[in-house]
Amino acid sequence: MRIDVLGVGFDNVTMEEAVARGVELIHQEGSHYVVTPNPEIVEVCRENLAAKIAVNGADLVLPDGIGVIKGAAMLGTPLKEKTPGIEFAGHLMERMAGEGLSLYLLGAKPGVAEKAAENLRAQYPGLVIAGTHDGYFKEDGPVVEDIRQSGADVVFVCLGAPKQELWMEKNGPATGAHLLCGLGGSLDVFAGVVERAPKFWSDHGLEWLYRLCKEPKRIGRMMKLPLFLVHVKQEKRK
Ligand code: UDP
Repeated sequence: MRIDVLGVGFDNVTMEEAVARGVELIHQEGSHYVVTPNPEIVEVCRENLAAKIAVNGADLVLPDGIGVIKGAAMLGTPLKEKTPGIEFAGHLMERMAGEGLSLYLLGAKPGVAEKAAENLRAQYPGLVIAGTHDGYFKEDGPVVEDIRQSGADVVFVCLGAPKQELWMEKNGPATGAHLLCGLGGSLDVFAGVVERAPKFWSDHGLEWLYRLCKEPKRIGRMMKLPLFLVHVKQEKRK
């Protein structure tokens, strides 16, 4: 059973359980997808029904950060722990490397996915990178075909939210991949283009503040954070 946080149902799993489930999905028939919503995406889902359907339709819905964990606790239905998408991806790649499974990287600006591929090959020996494509394409068809041709087991879809969730819902089955993961700006981090917050900041639930200092233009998006907490409080009163 999922835990509802303002209309988005989260799987109540530890990181270890999430990764085990991810590996299971890779070996299951058919196409599956994982989403990792943060408070900003929960707020988007409140206003955008198509996004909400795509997010809740995922096979695994993981709380990306401390905001959702706090929200769930305030609502009296705590979640076990935060399971950031980028860390989930790291554990999954370790497991994939061990089994010689293949990965396709989709998203980010031209050149970034290739650079990420180079770094990930070095970091996870045994991991097969089946292909890459930037995230600024006009038509889905050729990209879907390229993934299908690559024979990738897994696709990291990094187009930002809610674009990536809608993309996976619509195109997942046609790619032939068994698992697609929506991972926002992760390719920028894997490529070394963007730095992830040092451990101190994320341990103290301040990853958002670190990102804001690095990229002040995110302020508009980040205003969704306090709004999320206001909505959680309103929900609690009901
Ligand atoms: N992006 C993309 N295609 C688009 C819009 C965005 O590939 O049409 C990429 C963008 O270059 C970035 C990622 O999607 O690499 C979104 O990053 P953001 O920091 O917004 O995601 P978050 O991690 O905050 O969800």
